[in-house]
Amino acid sequence: MRRLEQIYEGKAKRVYRTDDPQLYVVEYKDDATAFNGLKKGQIADKGIYNNRISSVVFQLLSKHGIKTHFVKQLSDREMLVKSLRIIPLEVVARNIAAGSLAKRVGLEEGTPMSQTVLEFYYKRDDLGDPLVNDYHIRALNLATPQQLEALARMALDTNRTLTDFLRRCGLLLVDFKLEFGLHGDEILLGDEISPDTCRLWDTTTQEKLDKDRFRRDLGGVEQAYQEVWRRVSEAK
Ligand code: UDP
Repeated sequence: MRRLEQIYEGKAKRVYRTDDPQLYVVEYKDDATAFNGLKKGQIADKGIYNNRISSVVFQLLSKHGIKTHFVKQLSDREMLVKSLRIIPLEVVARNIAAGSLAKRVGLEEGTPMSQTVLEFYYKRDDLGDPLVNDYHIRALNLATPQQLEALARMALDTNRTLTDFLRRCGLLLVDFKLEFGLHGDEILLGDEISPDTCRLWDTTTQEKLDKDRFRRDLGGVEQAYQEVWRRVSEAK
């Protein structure tokens, strides 16, 4: 397998074609953005930790029957994945109120939800990724009803598996964002699952060990990513 030209550069990753049309290489960068790109920075070695953490999480999920794009970790910053046509939705699952949900419905950050909340956001940077419901998704043809059902089921399965695993790491899975894509007609979980895309709080102290340290200028950003990797690598 040979890495060929770059086909996409996002905020935190680059995607390359390979000589196999079924496979892409994803390269994880240290760049960090927040607030729809308004805040920009770098987190030293974030790409290395996110690649490692995502690799462990994708392997855990596939062991639990959740289909992902992950094939294997290639190097410190590179992951081999199945090629996807991304479904233009961000699927957010929430167990504890935080961030935009806490603001929108007037809950204090840290309030446990009585059941997991799923949300869908339309992936459109120019619109600031607006929140959409089932009706919008169908009317805009963003996903078919069957696909939407599969996304919800896969997100809830991921939540269950990941919550249990992270509990063993002394981490609370507050909320997280997933992206999915089509590989042929199969829906696979794509993107990454890392402290960039999850809120992770220490179970006993509630200390934030995720990208909120960067978003909210809390300091100790690099240390938080490193600490999550330390715990994940010990529990895997
Ligand atoms: N999230 C993400 N990318 C986004 C928006 C949100 O990975 O573009 C994650 C975020 O890290 C958190 C969850 O989705 O774990 C819910 O985020 P929220 O809606 O609270 O938005 P925020 O306040 O983080 O912008």
